Amino acid sequence: MLHPSSTPSTPPPIAGEHPQLHQPECLPAATEVLIVGAGPTGMALAIALQQAGVKHVIIDKLQQGLNTSRAGVIHAHTLEMLESLGVSRQLVQLGIPLSNFCIRNRQGVLLKLQFNPLPTPYHYLLMLPQDLTEKVLSDRLTALGGHIFRGVTATAVTQDPAGVSVTLATPSGPASLRAQYVVGADGMHSIVRAAAGIGFEGGTYEESFVLADVRMDWALANEVSLFFSPLGLVVVAPLPNGIFRVVATVHQAPEQPGVDDIQALLDSRGPAAGTDKVKEVLWSSRFRLHHRVANDYRNGRLLVMGDAAHVHSPAGGQGMNTGLVDAVVLGQLLARAVRAADGSAILDTYRKMRRPAASRVLALAGRLTTLATLRGAAKLALRNGLLSFINRLPFVRRRIAMELSGLSRRSFAQLPAAIAQSPAAVAPVPNHTVAARLPDCPS
Ligand SMILES: Cc1cc2nc3c(=O)[nH]c(=O)nc-3n(C[C@H](O)[C@H](O)[C@H](O)COP(=O)(O)OP(=O)(O)OC[C@H]3O[C@@H](n4cnc5c(N)ncnc54)[C@H](O)[C@@H]3O)c2cc1C
Repeated sequence: MLHPSSTPSTPPPIAGEHPQLHQPECLPAATEVLIVGAGPTGMALAIALQQAGVKHVIIDKLQQGLNTSRAGVIHAHTLEMLESLGVSRQLVQLGIPLSNFCIRNRQGVLLKLQFNPLPTPYHYLLMLPQDLTEKVLSDRLTALGGHIFRGVTATAVTQDPAGVSVTLATPSGPASLRAQYVVGADGMHSIVRAAAGIGFEGGTYEESFVLADVRMDWALANEVSLFFSPLGLVVVAPLPNGIFRVVATVHQAPEQPGVDDIQALLDSRGPAAGTDKVKEVLWSSRFRLHHRVANDYRNGRLLVMGDAAHVHSPAGGQGMNTGLVDAVVLGQLLARAVRAADGSAILDTYRKMRRPAASRVLALAGRLTTLATLRGAAKLALRNGLLSFINRLPFVRRRIAMELSGLSRRSFAQLPAAIAQSPAAVAPVPNHTVAARLPDCPS
């Protein structure tokens, strides 16, 4: 499983503010938008709201962000969308741009996708571990004067026609907060989704997955490689600092796979030449995967995004990417909804735009996972023949690259003209300047 750090941290005060203001007991008692969860999507939404001058509070039950690498790629469309948050340039500086994505069998290439001809300034796969992506987002939020209230858990969420009441557990005891809207950026087991009564339908993949970040000798360091071997899938992708991400489907694996486990996976499924040598496992995990999408993205004043709204196989590296686009779109819509007499129509757009995008992503990740986990010599021969055939069709290869990069889903992230032209909040304000505070807080 994942290894969340339990090191407590005290966030630095914002310049010019009362140093005690950031203690959990000093949470505002009311705000326009409460974001539950400070993973990548919650932080991206907080940046968007901070830039738009929307009063908001972002909380996370963890004292510190997870410092594990998880999502290893940022796609072109995500980088295009993140430009509005002012983080794309820094992400590009930190990551490794790769132009090629190859599906291989043990003998050679079945299908090669090239990203450099794509119509975008970001014509590559940007390889960057999730902890660094989160750090860039967190630093940007801090630079804008925003703040994450950590160690604060939402324990109950109740909405009424005028707003939402949220009960919180904080290190200094229970608290409550009233918000105009509450956004669940709280992951797969979302309390906000449950409070909204939104179903999360789908299923669980039969196979488990192993994920490891390793140091090793590896000849294919300029591409993301998916090996479709008769024993199952193994993916190898370079990350910054000479690290490689290895992901594989498995029936059984130790909870934290070691050097020998990863070497055995590469020996039995990787290149037939077998010259690679795993030297060190820096982080590893074994996990089961679900494929689910929320039946709706909004119920009244409660909204969901990111893993709270959709989860699926990591094949194609789409999970965090889809969630980050959700966040940018929802930020633009909330900036308008909080200023509107009735924000319902504006917020309905969110579900109409983003749920179909998630369905497309689930279908893509599902197809890749099904292809990768096929069994039986006849099916494998058919699959490999099909991929080799597609490899000779440049138009089809480009379509698949457009889908993987997210660029073919741009239309699911563009606000309708009538909404885009409507007034949005624009003036940045500190996220905690609200009238009502808990009694023991400094004013
Ligand atoms: C092992 C692993 C490998 C992965 N690999 C990839 C990959 O290769 N590519 C890819 O795109 N994606 C990958 N993902 C998925 C990716 O990590 C997620 O899509 C991404 O983290 C989702 O971001 P999020 O902000 O929606 O939710 P999360 O990152 O899950 O963040 C949710 C936050 O909410 C907080 N929270 C939850 N409940 C409460 C509450 N009641 N009160 C307060 N706070 C709360 C949690 O502490 C957490 O910080 C992987 C995930 C895992 C676990």
